[in-house]
Amino acid sequence: MAKKRIPLHTKILLGLVIGLLFGLLCIFTGIPNIFVIHYIKPFGTIFVNALKMVAMPLILASLIVGVSNLGDISKLSRMGGKTIGIYLVTTIIATTIGLLIVNTIKPGKIITEETRMELMNMFEQDAEQKTGAAKKIKDEGPLQPLINIIPDNLANSASKNSNMLQIVFFAIIFGVALLQIKSDRKNYVIGFFEGLNDVIIRIIHYIMVFAPYGVFALISTLIVEIAGSNPAKALEILNALLLYAITVILGLVLMVLVIYPSIFNVFTKVKYKAFFKGIREAQLLAFSTSSSSATLPVTMESVENNLNVSEEVSSFVLPLGATINMDGTSLYQSVAAVFIAHAMGLELTLTSQLAIVLTAVLASIGSAGVPGAGMVMLVIVLEAAGIPAAGLALIVAPDRPLDMLRTVVNVTGDATVAMTVASTEGEQVGLKRVTIKNEA
Ligand code: ASP
Repeated sequence: MAKKRIPLHTKILLGLVIGLLFGLLCIFTGIPNIFVIHYIKPFGTIFVNALKMVAMPLILASLIVGVSNLGDISKLSRMGGKTIGIYLVTTIIATTIGLLIVNTIKPGKIITEETRMELMNMFEQDAEQKTGAAKKIKDEGPLQPLINIIPDNLANSASKNSNMLQIVFFAIIFGVALLQIKSDRKNYVIGFFEGLNDVIIRIIHYIMVFAPYGVFALISTLIVEIAGSNPAKALEILNALLLYAITVILGLVLMVLVIYPSIFNVFTKVKYKAFFKGIREAQLLAFSTSSSSATLPVTMESVENNLNVSEEVSSFVLPLGATINMDGTSLYQSVAAVFIAHAMGLELTLTSQLAIVLTAVLASIGSAGVPGAGMVMLVIVLEAAGIPAAGLALIVAPDRPLDMLRTVVNVTGDATVAMTVASTEGEQVGLKRVTIKNEA
């Protein structure tokens, strides 16, 4: 009898749980941190690097092929308008939900003066680092983000994953130009990029074979690093910030269980449960890597392969989403801003709250899809609302676990929009029987 294969998402989940247990074991049995840092962490880094390695060529190839297959440019502009419109609306909803629940639960009001001083002392340095990084961004002119989209040198943009939007821009122009060429010679170029696309997808399958081990390494290292050498202290701090963390998590859960399903109900015929099944590998990776950019190759693979979204839509909507659509991040930023204000004894006027909505939407658009980016951009939200940026020190401790969760929401939001755009473009989206192959 043929042996039943364990599905990939179950293996990744196992990697996650075993990683967690192993991390705890290290802390409680005194296995030195240095062992984990030197011999386990590298496998997590290798895994994330491998995913990042394929992101650029994947976007380039799949977007060029996608756009050149569109048939006409009007479809591209319609899809573009729709995508950006839905991204904006979902981000505004997320920010508003964040504000509503933080103003209802008010977790900042229960922080005692003593805890506040202690946190400020402990995390002052981290906060200063982040404030410095954000200041650089703030000093740029208001049109700088627009300038940043147009590369001055293609090789340069391809050399940094944070320049993803530049590659998206180039690939769209390239695809549009291909669309308009009449001669048959364009078929060589399209054929080349189609081939390149296939090769990259094959490489993603190789990388995914390694995913459970990569996830194990990432999670166990994280546990060891968070607990550091004083697990009791780490627990105490997390406990003091528990209500804040619960508020963020509640908002994120609302997005995933209420807002996205409602969008699904209105725009698609797909069952939300089926959608969840289709993207679970991407969600697990988002959780383990805290990076929408690193997860992007798998999000694209899952949405196309498992949920039947066309390459045209997924290669356009998802890379754009991984860079500009961060519902989880904007929600977190609005909760964190009000939490810090309350913890520092400030009352926020309606104008400051509105400034939070506006800047959290912009700051989440500007956050890169990498770990911790949302917290750096939070400085801009704080300053716009007149809250001292040093208050960032209050929320440094639980940031990583919250980052893991908000990244899951960011990725789920991108995939939701991809499904919505595909459905409204008349595609028959829905769960296919294939999942990302378990083996290369
Ligand atoms: N880590 C998040 C992401 O990659 C960004 C953030 O820090 O909120 O989507």
